[in-house]
Amino acid sequence: MTVRVRIAPSPTGNLHIGTARTAVFNWLYARRHGGRMLVRIEDTDRERSQPRYTRNILEGLSWLGLDWEEGPFYQTDRLDRYAEVIRELLDRGLAYRSYTSAAELDAMRAAQKAAGKAPRYDNCDRHLTPEQIAAYEAEGRQPVIRFKIEEPLTVSWNDRIRGDISWNSQDLGGDMVIAKADGQPLYNLAVVVDDIDMGITHVIRGEDHIGNTPKQILLYRALDREPPVFAHSPLILNPEGRKLSKRDGATSVAEFRQMGYLPEALKNYLALLSWSSPDGEEVFALEDAAEVFDFDRVTKSAARFDWDKLNWLNSQYLRQLSPAEQVERLTPFWAAAGLAIADVPEPQWLEEMAALISEGLTLLTEAAPLSRYLLQQELLYATDAIAQLRLPDVAPAIARVAEATAAIDPTTPALGDALKTMVGAVAKERGVKKGLVMKSLRAALTGSLRGPDLMASFNLLHRRGWAIERLQAVETLQ
Ligand code: GLU
Repeated sequence: MTVRVRIAPSPTGNLHIGTARTAVFNWLYARRHGGRMLVRIEDTDRERSQPRYTRNILEGLSWLGLDWEEGPFYQTDRLDRYAEVIRELLDRGLAYRSYTSAAELDAMRAAQKAAGKAPRYDNCDRHLTPEQIAAYEAEGRQPVIRFKIEEPLTVSWNDRIRGDISWNSQDLGGDMVIAKADGQPLYNLAVVVDDIDMGITHVIRGEDHIGNTPKQILLYRALDREPPVFAHSPLILNPEGRKLSKRDGATSVAEFRQMGYLPEALKNYLALLSWSSPDGEEVFALEDAAEVFDFDRVTKSAARFDWDKLNWLNSQYLRQLSPAEQVERLTPFWAAAGLAIADVPEPQWLEEMAALISEGLTLLTEAAPLSRYLLQQELLYATDAIAQLRLPDVAPAIARVAEATAAIDPTTPALGDALKTMVGAVAKERGVKKGLVMKSLRAALTGSLRGPDLMASFNLLHRRGWAIERLQAVETLQ
């Protein structure tokens, strides 16, 4: 049997981090078993579905590198097929038209509540006579379609993550609506028809769908089909143990992307939320995790989002990138900050610069402020940097460094060594402490007292032709 899994987001919002984690588990399971993953856009809810969310979802999955073999399929392309199944269920007496209005349902639930009972539909339209139906029709009522849920009945399945689960059919809220009055099929019906037609063998999804599973199993039975294997993964909670919400900083994959996370770090982190590798490894490519992934190492308890861990992973991945990859990843963030990279001296320069500023980076967004002094000709000075440049002995020493720098050809092969030797010599010659010269040099070249490696910055700035003018500018700051 070929494993066939699916990721089935509803385009009613941007790609949520929980859906992305579900996609990671599906992807891992399909890879592990040489199976196939398909994407299905569950867009039957016409009021809430929007094309821009579909785009965001597909883009997010692609950005994460969670590639799929089939689809995307759209449920709105399959409405005829759902209508056909609904007709079949009606013809076989397994479903019926129900005329109870929304207001009547509210009243029914209120009465049940008042009597201390759980609210449910009381199946009152199951056995309507032709006269009653005619009367409702004459009133202009539009019926919904309900699927009969036999009671009492125990519906059980062996969930691959949560173990044996049993559900009493009396707790399913009564006969369930499978199509609205306007014919729009509802989630449980469409999902079962699709999973059957698409040959899905394993339904891997969030545990918020556990309550739907017994209803779906009953539909499989009604349609004379074996249900697939179900695996419900635990929810992702915020660090305080509550549902992850907007207030937690980010909930959609697009937001994590904007914040400067790398896709490989984010998906590694998502895999680690509720799953652990048998060898305890925490930094891994999903391809490697796929070789050992199984549900037995997925925890049952909810996962808490751990920003420190995600940040740590991101910095690990940032450091592992080659300089050319660092440039590629940083380019959109420089552009967003208005920093031009088109006129840098040579590609090699840009790569060295990216490697230099990536050293201490946690997020890609931190790169722009860190690299401004290397990409923007006009230098902005911090107040403490100006104060440093006004200390006694500093201006003449820096003026001397400017002169000596002008004598060093920026294309010299060992430029870094030449600059270093020169700075040491100037300090000695002027009888100024080397530490003072270095600190002042940093202030003069970068406008700040802190930042990436000073001599590497000096080297890059000299090759850009900006070092001398910055050193000379110290005089004008006095
Ligand atoms: N469309 C459902 C959702 O976005 C998922 C359905 C499923 O996986 O069965 O939550």
